[in-house]
Amino acid sequence: MNYPTPFHITIIGGGITGLSAAWYVQQEAIRLGIDITYTLLEQSSRWGGKILTETVEGYGARPFIIEGGPDSFLSQKPWAAQLARELGIDDQFLPTNDGRRQTFILHKGQPAPLPDGVLLMVPTKIKPFALSRLISPWGKLRMGLDWFIPPKTDDADETLAQFIQRRLGQEALDKMAEPLLSGIYNADAELQSMMATFPRFRDMEKEHGSLIKAMLTAKKSRVHPPPNGSTASMFTSFKPGMAELVLALREQLTGDCRLGVGVEKLAHGQRSPISNLQSSLYQLHLADGTTLPTNAIILAVPAFVAAHLLADVAPPAAATLRQIRYVSTGTISLAYKRDEIDHPLNGFGIVIPRSERRRINAVTWSSTKFDHRAPDGYVLLRVFFGGSRTPEMMDVADEALLPIVQAELREMMGITAVPLFHRIYRWQQSNPQYDVGHLERVAAIEATLPPGIFVTGSPYRGVGVPDCVKQAKDTAVEVVTSLFEMTTRDA
Ligand SMILES: Cc1cc2nc3c(=O)[nH]c(=O)nc-3n(C[C@H](O)[C@H](O)[C@H](O)COP(=O)(O)OP(=O)(O)OC[C@H]3O[C@@H](n4cnc5c(N)ncnc54)[C@H](O)[C@@H]3O)c2cc1C
Repeated sequence: MNYPTPFHITIIGGGITGLSAAWYVQQEAIRLGIDITYTLLEQSSRWGGKILTETVEGYGARPFIIEGGPDSFLSQKPWAAQLARELGIDDQFLPTNDGRRQTFILHKGQPAPLPDGVLLMVPTKIKPFALSRLISPWGKLRMGLDWFIPPKTDDADETLAQFIQRRLGQEALDKMAEPLLSGIYNADAELQSMMATFPRFRDMEKEHGSLIKAMLTAKKSRVHPPPNGSTASMFTSFKPGMAELVLALREQLTGDCRLGVGVEKLAHGQRSPISNLQSSLYQLHLADGTTLPTNAIILAVPAFVAAHLLADVAPPAAATLRQIRYVSTGTISLAYKRDEIDHPLNGFGIVIPRSERRRINAVTWSSTKFDHRAPDGYVLLRVFFGGSRTPEMMDVADEALLPIVQAELREMMGITAVPLFHRIYRWQQSNPQYDVGHLERVAAIEATLPPGIFVTGSPYRGVGVPDCVKQAKDTAVEVVTSLFEMTTRDA
């Protein structure tokens, strides 16, 4: 049977997920030698979604490089770095300054260092942990009980709070797990799904019976230490900023990429007299008044947008998509002259437990964490606000936000200098929340999607940039393979 070609795939959303999906559709079509065209549609006026890098010149030989969204990606998850290599921009990799890696946790209003040997939140060195003022003697004892508490061996989901309380106790939850682990997701530990966000801890518990034993075993089994005893950097960025990845993708996409064109509605297409792919023929209604027929659709948009678009063609999937909650977050970057700040900035920044009841969630010392972020003689800090911790801060007007943030920095770090400039980025409904049962919800969505429609990206199986790239790749391969199989099945 002869199938009409080229097949057409439409990717909706030009964030890192949509751009990566387009890239892997392009690559996979070449690999399989199948004639596929694609359209990538982004409703806003720029590519990258939450990846947004701004440069500010005029303070020296080099500019300030300011990240409005992600400032790096987790090196341990290989997919973003692999993509960068494929695009030929790996010479622009920028590792964190790991010689100065130290995290501080706000404790009774002041930053206290996370004790040496604490991996994520599990102590693996006795002395620095015993000497730390961060956790009370009783709290330390309770954490040590992890060694003896019998493991939970089923696969039932639970909240991060339940897991930590069970294994390490309430104080470990309040002082370490909540700011370090829920902070990444801007989540509420009392709702956050353990299986969707930190399944590795559950695996460790099952396999070793204790988190401490598991971490110690992992440390011992590191057979090939990196040269000079150094560890590979935990996070990676790009010298010109995270937007480098977006730029490289956009430059190397050869398909029909349209900016400023949102999708308003999806509908089943007319049965085509020439197409045998009737079951997967759709019609997209675009904001510019035009329509676009397509064989397959990849939705790389927030879950609530996907829900809206799927309302007619997949009502059950749309209903479950609506259950994925979102919170809004913001960042404010502040630039200072180095000699106007007494603080040593001797680490990557401060995370703030909810129990400290502050108006901000965390501070990154951006120009310590990375080179190339501020000109010589200047420093750059970045403050996080909003999310599930301080949602009221999202409604504070810009003029009022700056003095609040300055007051917080004065109290925590003794900074009295006025910033040279600042940049505020507000991300409304930006952070999908992986509440308990999240993976079941995602499976239910996937099971109720009609043929030819796919959802992918941060709302589903990981919010980090590498997770988004991986999901985009998996989806692109699945879509192209299914079209390829149709062409070969009856040949
Ligand atoms: C402040 C902040 C800091 C972060 N820090 C990190 C970090 O350091 N490291 C890390 O790995 N991750 C980080 N993340 C998470 C990560 O940035 C995101 O999960 C990821 O960028 C999401 O990419 P995405 O493509 O799935 O979604 P998005 O970036 O949201 O892209 C979706 C795109 O779809 C478009 N769109 C929406 N509706 C339509 C429509 N109807 N038609 C067409 N287009 C549409 C939107 O305009 C948008 O461009 C951070 C997130 C935030 C908000």
